Amino acid sequence: MPELPEVEVVRRGLQSSLTGRTIRSAEARVPALRWPLPPALDACLRGARVQEVLRRGKYLLLRLDRGWLIVHLGMSGTLRFLRQPEPPQRHDHVDLVFEHGVLRLRDPRRFGALLWHPAQAGAPWAHPLLAGLGVEPLSDAFDGALLHRALRGRRVAIKLLLLAGTVVVGVGNIYASESLFRAGILPGTPAGRISRARCERLAAAIRATLTQAIERGGSSLRDFVGTGGECGHFQLECLVYGRAGQPCRNCGTPIRSRMQQQRATYWCPRCQH
Ligand SMILES: [Zn+2]
Repeated sequence: MPELPEVEVVRRGLQSSLTGRTIRSAEARVPALRWPLPPALDACLRGARVQEVLRRGKYLLLRLDRGWLIVHLGMSGTLRFLRQPEPPQRHDHVDLVFEHGVLRLRDPRRFGALLWHPAQAGAPWAHPLLAGLGVEPLSDAFDGALLHRALRGRRVAIKLLLLAGTVVVGVGNIYASESLFRAGILPGTPAGRISRARCERLAAAIRATLTQAIERGGSSLRDFVGTGGECGHFQLECLVYGRAGQPCRNCGTPIRSRMQQQRATYWCPRCQH
């Protein structure tokens, strides 16, 4: 599933290929993804100009001169910008046609979303999908003090709390395991027992992990690609994720793994405690 780094890689691709460009037409080939697509998509978007492309959590926000297009890639969605025309394949559900190419949304499992938020409805931050999201991990607001306050009194395992996205957004399964390893914290540690000093380390580890993943173009574990069709390479540099039984890159101890609420968790029993 695309996580924050992958969505940020897509955002950067869209920002550079679409900013200042005008939508000539829009075509939806299915009535709905996770939710119904805007009924009059073409009428809604035709002639609209892209002003900027933002991200909130794993939502992409295309600010047009008449409103916002809110896009989520779901489990397996991709957004590619095709400079040369290509016939749509089976799971290519939405095309936005620009004068210099086509933005194509492919979503085999249809867990993604494409929603229209008109300018009259105000800024999109209060949209029900966005209002309850935790702090952005790469923003100045996210630090050890905030994390420590948010974890106080919580008995849930730290990894599960990170995955929930209510404290900090976008730390998905790969990045939660990687960040906890870097911070030296066992994934099953009750969140409220993590000291302020360790929260500082964890906040720094989350930032560093996500930043490195964005620089590597994200992780292409299944079929993630950027807007130009390029794969990400972060998965090749993972310290613990997907490395069960292999030696820890720090101490040589075999990496362990177990399922934590249906998600595979990886850790080093020596480096993390
Ligand atoms: Zn180790």
